[in-house]
Amino acid sequence: MRKTFKATMMAAPLVRHRRKENESVQTDEPPSGLADHCQDPFEADIPVPAFFLARRLPPTTPKTRAFRRRFYPQVSDAEWSDWRWQMRNRISSAERFAEMLQLTLPEQVALSRGGGMLPVGITPYYCSLLDSEDPHQPLRRTVVPDQSEFLRSPGEADDPLDEDADSPVPGIVHRYPDRVLFLVHDTCATYCRYCTRSRVVGHGEILPSKDKLEVGLDYIRRNPQIRDVLISGGDPLTLSDGKLDWLLGELRGIPHVQFLRIGTKVPVVMPQRIDRALVRILKKYHPLWMSIHFTHPDECTPEVVRACRMLADAGIPLGSQTVLLKGVNDNIPTMRALVHRELMMRVRPYYLYQCDPISGSAHFRTGVDRGLEIISGLRGWTTGYGVPTFVIDAPGGGGKIPLQPDSYVGENDEGLLLRSYKGTVHCYPDPSRARGSK
Ligand code: SF4
Repeated sequence: MRKTFKATMMAAPLVRHRRKENESVQTDEPPSGLADHCQDPFEADIPVPAFFLARRLPPTTPKTRAFRRRFYPQVSDAEWSDWRWQMRNRISSAERFAEMLQLTLPEQVALSRGGGMLPVGITPYYCSLLDSEDPHQPLRRTVVPDQSEFLRSPGEADDPLDEDADSPVPGIVHRYPDRVLFLVHDTCATYCRYCTRSRVVGHGEILPSKDKLEVGLDYIRRNPQIRDVLISGGDPLTLSDGKLDWLLGELRGIPHVQFLRIGTKVPVVMPQRIDRALVRILKKYHPLWMSIHFTHPDECTPEVVRACRMLADAGIPLGSQTVLLKGVNDNIPTMRALVHRELMMRVRPYYLYQCDPISGSAHFRTGVDRGLEIISGLRGWTTGYGVPTFVIDAPGGGGKIPLQPDSYVGENDEGLLLRSYKGTVHCYPDPSRARGSK
């Protein structure tokens, strides 16, 4: 029987490096049992869908095709592929959900109350990816409200990151010296039930009128230390082409702004938005980067692959942000499948977030040790580009704090003792610790 990853780590041997007389550092042969300890920790790797490696990308999946036939038989390809149609036809009523999904009682109760702090809304496209029968399906859990949203647990808060305290003018969060978060819109294509900004998203507080956006632009213009602007919301890609073009143009016109970023989940929940017209606009404002909010490998459909290709071909560096969610993506095979698919889409896994303690989030939050285990299960076991930084966004406005599995074991006269990805311990002859050094 294969050992679990945890058991492998616990049983790992020490590989000793000794300084022998008249020799530099030398590595002993690994103990004969090492092969046992080098086993890949992934007991059940999730296969890559065939379309990822196919020469021609199919337009969609059989699952989405069947969903469309069943619930939207009259809707043309042109309508389905039009992001405005997707936005207008978001599923939000309890009645419509009941037609499409076998709802559990907690889901029915939550829907009848209109969700917790966040509105409810899912694009027909994203709804086509949900399992109509299984309420525990990861994607369904992230977007269909559940009664647990209404429970308040100790340590939770509506604004756990204290963003409001770092907001000098409406729409701007200025936490770090050289960069700001610019909240430009409170609408999303699909609402995630664990959203950190539940307190503002979908409540009509951040409306993208030019007057309101000018307040944020004016603040950025008046503060020459701001070299980096992260445009977020809500989702900035739900703005019209014209508004986005104007906003990016205004920001690019500020001489000290060197770098623009867009934080979005739209390429995942409404990939139809990534069309030629949008890409033409975005290309005008380089250097422009994009952080895409991915949650689970099942989100990586042909539609999403195509959207990411268009963005990457337009020269936009793509990174991903993923929230660690209990029962959704909190295991190594799922996260490994996600990062591998992201790499194939030219999306660099960037951050893995510990879920923020927002009000009503206890059913989504894992222990921090789960995130560390996942990083241990990726680091060394897969491509370095595929390992995101695991962070806690510190409650009370402390900013992002990275967490790493502990690789420092200790030190001796010869150097530092460091744990490898396989769990073996190695001595690095650190010059500052060498005998006789000052
Ligand atoms: S897309 Fe982002 S802002 Fe919108 S609900 Fe999801 S997490 Fe919140």
